[in-house]
Amino acid sequence: MAGSRGIPHFVPEGADSMDIFPPEKRSEIMSRIRSSGTRSERRLGEILRGLFLGEEILERPGELPGRPDYFLPGPGLAVFMDGCFWHGCPRCRRRPPEQNREYWEEKVRRNRRRDRRADRALRAAGLAAVRVWEHELKGGAEAARRKLLRAARRAERRVLWPGTLRSMLCANTKQAKS
Ligand SMILES: [Zn+2]
Repeated sequence: MAGSRGIPHFVPEGADSMDIFPPEKRSEIMSRIRSSGTRSERRLGEILRGLFLGEEILERPGELPGRPDYFLPGPGLAVFMDGCFWHGCPRCRRRPPEQNREYWEEKVRRNRRRDRRADRALRAAGLAAVRVWEHELKGGAEAARRKLLRAARRAERRVLWPGTLRSMLCANTKQAKS
C-alpha cells in the first residue's frame, strides 16, 4: 500500500507508520502526536529542568507565537525542539527519498518559514527564542546545554517583556492545565 503511493519507508521520529496514511490524515495524526510530546521533547524538558533548577518552566504555552515546546518566564525565553527531518537540519541532511521528494521538501520549507515567522513574532513581543536540534539532544547533549544556557543568559540581560503579559500568560497556562 505504502509502496504504491510512493510514500517513503523512511520514518522520522514521531511519525511511525505514518506512510500508510494520505497526507491530510497524516498531518492530523502528527498534530496529535505533537500534543502528547515526542521522546526528544521530553528529553529537552529533562535537560531544562536540570539546567534551570527551581525556575519556572512552562510546557507548551499555547498563547505564544509558534507554540514553543517550553517557555521560561524568568528570562522570557521560548524553547523549541526542532526535529532534524521536519525542520531541515543542515547537519543531518536527511534527504527525503526520491519518490515523493517534492511533498517532503515542500513540507520542510513550510516548517522553516513558519519557524522564522515565529522567531520574529517572539522578538517583536520582547521575548527571546532558542531552537535545539533533535540531534543535539542525543547522548550527554553538551551542545544543547551550552546553547540553552547562553540563550537564557542573553535573554536575561534584555528582559523586555511586559510584566502584565507575563502574568496573563502564566495564569492562562495554569488554567488550561487544571
Ligand atoms: Zn540534525
